[in-house]
Amino acid sequence: MNTESILRAAEAIQAALLAHEADIEALDRAIGDGDHFINMKRGAAAVVALRDELATLAPDAALHKIGMKLLSSIGGASGPLIASFFLAMAKTMQERGADGWPQIAAAFAAGVAAIQSRGKADVGEKTLLDVLIPVSRCFTRLAEAGTEPATLCAELKREAEQGMESTRDMIASKGRAAFLGERAIGHIDPGAKTSQVMICTVCDLAST
Ligand code: ADP
Ligand code: MG
Ligand code: MG
Repeated sequence: MNTESILRAAEAIQAALLAHEADIEALDRAIGDGDHFINMKRGAAAVVALRDELATLAPDAALHKIGMKLLSSIGGASGPLIASFFLAMAKTMQERGADGWPQIAAAFAAGVAAIQSRGKADVGEKTLLDVLIPVSRCFTRLAEAGTEPATLCAELKREAEQGMESTRDMIASKGRAAFLGERAIGHIDPGAKTSQVMICTVCDLAST
C-alpha cells in the first residue's frame, strides 16, 4: 500500500458516498437524527482537499493526518469513532509497515479495535461494528493464509454486505437508535451502510 493508493481510495469513497446519498439519508432519518450523510460527506471532502499535503507523506503519516482531519471535521458520534480508526491504523502501520496484506490487515484490525474501545460497543449492537468486526476477522484470516487479492476482496465485500444486512433486525443498544427500542427493527444502521459502501469501494479498487 502506498500513499497514491490512499488518495485514490479517498476520492473513490467520496464519489461512492455521494452516489448513495438517498439511502444513507433515509436510514439516519428513520433511526437517527438525519445527519449521517452530511457528516460523512463533510469528512470525505475534508480528506480529499488535503490531497497535495498527503501526497508528500509516507502511508502511515498520511493516515495519521487523515485521522486528525476527520476528528475536527466530522461531528456527531461517528466523527471521533472514524478518526480513531485512522489514528490507530496509522500507528500500527508505522510499527509494522504497509508492504503486504497481513500488515494491512493488522493495521485495519487495530483501527477496528480502537473504534470498539472508544465506542464501548461490540457485534450485535446495531452499529458500524457489525460490518467492521466480521470484515476485519475475515481480512486477518485470509491475508495470513496468503489468499490472492481478487478472492480476498470478493470475500471482504461479502462479509460487509452480510454484516450490514445483519443490523436490519437488531435492536440498537448504542447510539441514537437505542432510544427507539423495537422501532429500530426493520432498518439497517446508517453507519453500517456507510461502512459497507466504503469497504466495497476500496475492495473494488484493490482488486483491479
Ligand atoms: P450521530 O448519531 O451523533 O448523529 P452519525 O449520524 O454521524 O452521528 O453516526 C451514527 C452512527 O454512528 C450509527 O449509525 C452507528 O453506526 C455509529 N455509532 C453510534 N454510536 C456508536 C458506538 N458507541 N459504537 C460504534 N458505533 C456507533
Ligand atoms: Mg446522526
Ligand atoms: Mg447527529
